[in-house]
Amino acid sequence: MSDFLADRLLAWYDIHARVLPWRSDPSPYHVWVSEIMLQQTRVDTVIPYYTRWITRFPTLESLASADQNEVLQLWEGLGYYGRARNLHKSAQLIVSQHAGNLPQDFKELLSLPGIGRYTAGAILSIAFNQSAPAVDGNIRRIYSRLINCHEPIGTPKNDNLICQFAKSVLPQNRPGDFNQALMDLGSACCLPDNPLCERCPIQIDCLAFSHKTQSILPVKPQKQPIPHWVVGAGVIMQDSHVLLAKRPQKGLLGGMWEFPGGKLEVEDPTLQACVQREWMEELGVNILAGDLVGTYSHAYTHFKVEVHAFLCQLAPGETILESETVRWVDLSELDAFPMGKVDRRIANRLVETNNNHHSV
Ligand code: SF4
Repeated sequence: MSDFLADRLLAWYDIHARVLPWRSDPSPYHVWVSEIMLQQTRVDTVIPYYTRWITRFPTLESLASADQNEVLQLWEGLGYYGRARNLHKSAQLIVSQHAGNLPQDFKELLSLPGIGRYTAGAILSIAFNQSAPAVDGNIRRIYSRLINCHEPIGTPKNDNLICQFAKSVLPQNRPGDFNQALMDLGSACCLPDNPLCERCPIQIDCLAFSHKTQSILPVKPQKQPIPHWVVGAGVIMQDSHVLLAKRPQKGLLGGMWEFPGGKLEVEDPTLQACVQREWMEELGVNILAGDLVGTYSHAYTHFKVEVHAFLCQLAPGETILESETVRWVDLSELDAFPMGKVDRRIANRLVETNNNHHSV
């Protein structure tokens, strides 16, 4: 069945392939950048980011020699900032260890930060025409339906079945187009809810369609409850300058700038006390937390936050010196400092308030 399935899918792809900026010149660098951007992110969202990125960093070398701040700034709003840090780090490794060329070997690709099995398979098949499977969430959904797999996603049984099927179905001829055809099929017909099977070029190969199980597949893993954190953040202003701190490289929003603060702990009697404790822990200074600037909610993939930002002052006798990770930034220059969504909203609010104040 597999050869016919591939023929049918490729014939459909030849007519219906989406026109996407990275497809006009699928160089290894272009494929790599686009695949990293597309992780957990919709194609429509990625296109303007990709275009800006390639204009600013047209080559792998130009990315490798860039400043991390600029890399994160170009990524701001796309989320999952570890992807940008890893692209940058990997570009530097590729220049220093692989003469600026992306490796054409699965294991070597996997050894680079940020490149997992899916991305390695996509690069090898699309950019190097190697017969490598590339199974992301969308393709896993299609395969689960094609083989009528009722094992929940994430279980070893599901992994084995999908992996075996992916290998058996991948053609030697045009493997990159085959993988891209699956990506397009996932967005055109084999949708997560209500798949449009009447339009599907491989309906005849689909066991879920013949068993009428397509709407209940794939079987999702049981959802864990999402934690909800209450966070306090402090804003200190001095002569139109505001204090920003750089987050540690590792972890959420690593390398981005923020208004320092942290999670409300049980021992904190108030949110203001939480902010004061966090500043002492992170910056070693005593501050006095005052009026509320605003409350901001944001949902990340695995948790939700509710951030309460307070206007603060340094306690008498305290000073904060600038360093690599602590800066006094003029309100007019906040845009040059990459931030997560909540911190950017706080920054915009400060700029707005300041402008209103000056226009009165
Ligand atoms: Fe998906 Fe329907 Fe096509 Fe099966 S027939 S692959 S469920 S769109």
